[in-house]
Amino acid sequence: MAVIDRAGLGAAALADLRAMFPVLAQTVNGAPLAYLDNAATTQMPLPVLDAMRHFELHDRANIHRGVHTLSQRATDAFDHARQGLKRFVGAGAAHELVFTSGTTDALNLVAHGLSTPGAAPVVIQPGDEIIVSLLEHHANLVPWQQAARRCGARLLILRPDARGRLQPEDLAGLLTPRTRVFAVTACANATGERPPYETLLALAAGAGALTVLDAAQSVAHAMPDLSALDCDFMAFSGHKMLGPMGTGVLVGRRAALERLQPLRYGGDMVARVSATEASFAELPMRLEGGTPHVAGAVGLAAAASFIEAAGRGRIDAHVSALRSHAAAGLAALPGVTVLAAGAGASGIVSFAAEGAHPHDIGTLLDEQGIAVRTGHHCAQPLLDHLGLGPTTRASFALYNTHEEVERLLAGVARALRLLR
Ligand code: PMP
Repeated sequence: MAVIDRAGLGAAALADLRAMFPVLAQTVNGAPLAYLDNAATTQMPLPVLDAMRHFELHDRANIHRGVHTLSQRATDAFDHARQGLKRFVGAGAAHELVFTSGTTDALNLVAHGLSTPGAAPVVIQPGDEIIVSLLEHHANLVPWQQAARRCGARLLILRPDARGRLQPEDLAGLLTPRTRVFAVTACANATGERPPYETLLALAAGAGALTVLDAAQSVAHAMPDLSALDCDFMAFSGHKMLGPMGTGVLVGRRAALERLQPLRYGGDMVARVSATEASFAELPMRLEGGTPHVAGAVGLAAAASFIEAAGRGRIDAHVSALRSHAAAGLAALPGVTVLAAGAGASGIVSFAAEGAHPHDIGTLLDEQGIAVRTGHHCAQPLLDHLGLGPTTRASFALYNTHEEVERLLAGVARALRLLR
């Protein structure tokens, strides 16, 4: 994309880029919006909106079932989106991609699919073990709690050290011949920590476990190709990568996906149905029962193209510079602790401030048009482990500016003066 120069994002380039995100050009509470809640949801650029609008205006029809032209165009658009997203994540010939409504949906599909009786043998048996890291969003923890309960399996927790980092030797100590599944995030949404997931996944796969990677916070950033990872299942959401809400992906090794029991039975996922029996379609349709969000898939693929054109490396250089700027400025404020202070590889900065509740800090920032997230960030066990309670989290995307970071720092300093 021409608007992003080689060195990163210059001021003029950034202004052009921001113009593609009309939602940013508004005032909130009398101040220009500083949208710093991108780990929760990113904004959509015009090319993504245009792609979805084009589909809805010209090609909207149900897929797979129709011989008519619009149905065929819609089917082509859906398949094209699938192929584009496979390329985006570096999937190989042995991989398949299933559309879901988001990361939560994808991870539930995996945890449910390995632990529930149905069309295929249940993978997780009584006495088996599931290992989940404590860095996880609840979406990559609670489904495993339920799966373990359903199957009579043991749930083991890979705990981070006091600074919130996962250590491969700790995982090595937990793996046994009974380990069926190891699930880990590629970036902790509550702290911004980027665990050594390549090594962790390889260790778990080497021990014979199925491996699950939550890439919700990472897929829009530089990541190894999926085919270079020891990863059976990877999940991510459209709305965290400049795409539409209610879209997401489960992508993984075909052989592993084939071991999943479908979560939804019904139309589109069957081969042949009698009044009392059904046989099931091949992947990916087998796991995509019902009419999918076709415009959403089109938008998600357009978002992937937008990110590729911008360059993940360049986006990351910009976003980590914003993170470092914010982390250094926040750490310099009295009584402020920045979580995962050294984590340079993400756009997330999360902090706790003595004598000021995050909710009050967030409210005072909103008065100045600055949008941040406060609370447990759906990662309560991790924040309990770190002993910090709820935090305030700012998270950056390619369209954020250093001026917005300055406003955040001044806004937090003001909030602390008022609250203490
Ligand atoms: N995992 C991580 C790491 C996340 O950050 C989030 C969203 N905050 C999720 C899973 C859940 O994503 P969704 O709500 O889009 O399903």
